[in-house]
Amino acid sequence: MKNPLNRQIVLAARPQGNAKLTDFEFVSNVLPAPGAGQVLVRNTLISLDPYQRNLMGNASSELPPIEIGQPMPGPTVAVIEQSNHVDFAVGDHVVTWSGWQEYALSDGAGLQKIDATAAPLSAALGVLGHTGLTAWVGLNKFLDPKPGGTFVVTAAAGSVGSISAQLAKLKGQRVVGIAGGAEKVRYLKEELGLDDAVDYKAPDFAAQLARALPSGLDTLFDNVGGFMFEVLMPYFNKHAQIVICGTIAQYGFPGAPDEPNRLPELLKAFLYRFIVIRGFALTDHFDSVPDFLADVAPLVAAGKIKYKEHFVDGFDSIPAAFLQLFDGRNNGKLIAKLAAPESRGNHA
Ligand code: NAP
Repeated sequence: MKNPLNRQIVLAARPQGNAKLTDFEFVSNVLPAPGAGQVLVRNTLISLDPYQRNLMGNASSELPPIEIGQPMPGPTVAVIEQSNHVDFAVGDHVVTWSGWQEYALSDGAGLQKIDATAAPLSAALGVLGHTGLTAWVGLNKFLDPKPGGTFVVTAAAGSVGSISAQLAKLKGQRVVGIAGGAEKVRYLKEELGLDDAVDYKAPDFAAQLARALPSGLDTLFDNVGGFMFEVLMPYFNKHAQIVICGTIAQYGFPGAPDEPNRLPELLKAFLYRFIVIRGFALTDHFDSVPDFLADVAPLVAAGKIKYKEHFVDGFDSIPAAFLQLFDGRNNGKLIAKLAAPESRGNHA
């Protein structure tokens, strides 16, 4: 077999504020044949995720930024094209962390085989993959909601938010989702069965929120941070539990120096309302995968957990699609579907 010409999307510039198309560059190179103990994987599905903005730099994150010229990292679903590895056969489907490129070489470390008969392959990047795991870990390891309490989820129609909201509902919480736009609010109430949902982009957001939270909130699963956290602060009940999963509203904007410092105000609220607030990163919790799958895979198979995927077509579409995450144009787990090799026309 001829070696494939590998197309990659690399970081061209560190974004100032939100990422833009010129922060990315397409490059091509020929991959060497896999050596002893190596496999060649061909990516078929590439996950696009908010934290990838943080890896581009100029934002705070638990992970260091990547270098200019480095391919954008992240999870993919791939098929094994060539194998010199005893554990992987040609045709096996695997999850990789090979990022925004068409092919990659691997020594097998970090490759996770997928049972292609159990669920659609794309589920391994969302509800049964890292975003589902994030929702499960945030809820089960960092929160202990009391029965019947009010549980608020931000970015609730998204990949993490929609799963955490449904898992909380299954735990007997009164769940209120916050999302941008009437269609996402309808989805949360009518299709996911949340108790209420609020459109933060609507002019009457404040009134909607007041109606949805007549007794305040007991638990917050926050994916947004920034202005959303400020708006929710007055609703925190005594002994409220908060998990900070993400702060997408702040990813391009680490905080202007001339903004008034709200931290003392927050600390006062935490003290007098006995609030517990915790942050976490998925990267510390991959050992929870078996427990997560044992819990969530049957719920998905039984239709008790629903999920939405938003596919974009082709490798070329990735940079523009990625930007949709930051203004809410994505509607569900954002995944790029790559064409089959014959239509890629990229063999050297
Ligand atoms: P997602 O929710 O499917 O997509 C992102 C959504 O965020 C958008 O659809 C948009 O929804 C909302 N959003 C974007 N910019 C916003 C802004 N300025 N203000 C308010 N809402 C905004 O993405 P996801 O993969 O599930 O990630 C959700 C969050 O979880 C992110 O913050 C991500 O970084 C975090 N996360 C954390 C971990 C961890 O280890 N702690 C792991 C994975 C993900 P609307 O249309 O509703 O505005």
